[in-house]
Amino acid sequence: MTTVATARHGPRIDLHTHSTASDGTLSPAELVRAAGQTGLDVVAITDHDTLAGWVEAFEACPPGLTVVPGLELSCVYTAAEARPMSVHLLGYLVDPGHQELVAELDRLRAERSQRGEKIVAKLASAGYPISWSRVRELAAGGSIGRPHVGRALVEAGVVATVDDAFRELLASDSRFYVRKADLDAIAGIDLITRAGGVAVFAHPGAGRRGRIVDDDAIKTLSAAGLFGLEVDHPDHTAAVRHRLRELADALGLVATGSSDFHGTNKVNRLGEHTTAPQVYATLAAAARGSRPHVGQRS
Ligand code: AMP
Ligand code: ZN
Ligand code: FE
Ligand code: FE
Repeated sequence: MTTVATARHGPRIDLHTHSTASDGTLSPAELVRAAGQTGLDVVAITDHDTLAGWVEAFEACPPGLTVVPGLELSCVYTAAEARPMSVHLLGYLVDPGHQELVAELDRLRAERSQRGEKIVAKLASAGYPISWSRVRELAAGGSIGRPHVGRALVEAGVVATVDDAFRELLASDSRFYVRKADLDAIAGIDLITRAGGVAVFAHPGAGRRGRIVDDDAIKTLSAAGLFGLEVDHPDHTAAVRHRLRELADALGLVATGSSDFHGTNKVNRLGEHTTAPQVYATLAAAARGSRPHVGQRS
């Protein structure tokens, strides 16, 4: 008997995406519809320092899709006698009513706004024709980030794309860069965990964005309660993925994969990288702050 080779696809799970609640370009409703159309079975909405997109994403969730509510928390890691390094933590399934978390997110968004205004002021005083009011309009009430400044620079004809804006003017080694007062990464892991969620280190090896942490830092964060490492990410080389996968295994951390989709603010495609179903099941079972939202077939 001949068997027809049928590709057996398991569920496709993308655990890191952004909407207009932060610096993505699709609204939460558009994001979950696009996730369904792309053939994803599970998508996490992980906007920077906000949970604001959750309810709209749940309400628009198409049948058969599961939306995992999450966030991407802006943190810094400071090793002994070293300069602080930016660390992004993905927090999944936290309790949206956790008061300390809500207060910290309010603080981080205020900090983003003040820092965005400073970056714009530096650019404007160097002669770039952009205004803070336009950047705020582009953010439309969402958590403000450098991609909004990038879009204003594209609109003003200074650069052709947001990516070019980052390369030429917005990168962390640019003279226009302004740091934000982010949360200590160990405190961030603790806060996500106390809010009932699980913490995954986002793009730990994304060298293109700036300095990356070493293995010792990841060991320290693991000891502080980190649950996983985002291993498969568009900004990771094959060598970085290999190193991170081995480290995750050695430390007993799960290894996730995701797209870090930002709509047209970034080149990353939805579902570009995915997470193994078993990893997702482990992660979801470990969280108790909220539950994934399953789109009902009517
Ligand atoms: P911020 O949160 O304001 O520090 O800005 C960082 C955000 O900019 C992150 O969400 C990144 O995904 C995004 N970003 C970094 N590099 C680029 C790039 N080259 N093009 C578009 N977005 C980028
Ligand atoms: Zn972003
Ligand atoms: Fe990030
Ligand atoms: Fe992200």
